[in-house]
Amino acid sequence: MCKAYHEVRETIARAARQNGRDPGEIELMLAIKTQQHDDVRAALDCGASLLGHNRVQELVATGEDLAAHGLTPELHLIGPLQRNKVNHTLRWATGIQTLDRVEIIERISDALERLAGESQIAKRGRNALDVMIQVNTTGEESKSGCKPSEAVELAALVGSRENLRLVGLMTIGPNTKDSAEIRAAYRRMRELAAEIRESGADGTSQCMQLSMGMTNDIAEAIAEGATMVRVGRAVFGERF
Ligand SMILES: *Cc1c(COP(=O)(O)O)cnc(C)c1O
Repeated sequence: MCKAYHEVRETIARAARQNGRDPGEIELMLAIKTQQHDDVRAALDCGASLLGHNRVQELVATGEDLAAHGLTPELHLIGPLQRNKVNHTLRWATGIQTLDRVEIIERISDALERLAGESQIAKRGRNALDVMIQVNTTGEESKSGCKPSEAVELAALVGSRENLRLVGLMTIGPNTKDSAEIRAAYRRMRELAAEIRESGADGTSQCMQLSMGMTNDIAEAIAEGATMVRVGRAVFGERF
């Protein structure tokens, strides 16, 4: 597994250099859905320090396992969040990348306030949760995420909440092999992040990160400015 992990690191570095970018500005998040706890811990041994989970239930189980082993990597939710799962999520997540509507933003912020010392960020001595707005750049009905036209307004709402820190935008690329189409979607993300920063709304000036790119489109994402790629299969192998 460490071999695969380091190969992905090399893919990232190569794509960065090809685009005149510093490989050090691109983080590798491991997408650990369906992986066994042992495999997740093995990946941390390879040097990983940033994990993402789609499902709250699995995120909680992973958080508990890691804590039992004295491990404290960053652990983000990268899947859809229902409101009845917000408290569970906040007990274990150090970040949430899937904010896509007013209701869930308000609920997360209010729940953090109520949980106080029981939230994961409070346990780590932080006063704000790192969050991203998920944007549906492809218009596919099956995908979550806000419409691009809603992103600036949602960013302002996040920015107005003291316990949320808007660090960037997240998207899942189009399901196609067409490189030009993939790049267009990712380019739109970069432009949107700039629009958000230029809006001048409180708390939006640090909306710098672009979480985009997975096993099949790491190169396209990095060419368009990704600062975090989320990779599963290239490290862990195919999911069955
Ligand atoms: C599964 C998943 C990934 C990783 O996809 P791979 O094709 O396994 O690299 C990234 N982001 C999200 C939101 C995912 O669900």
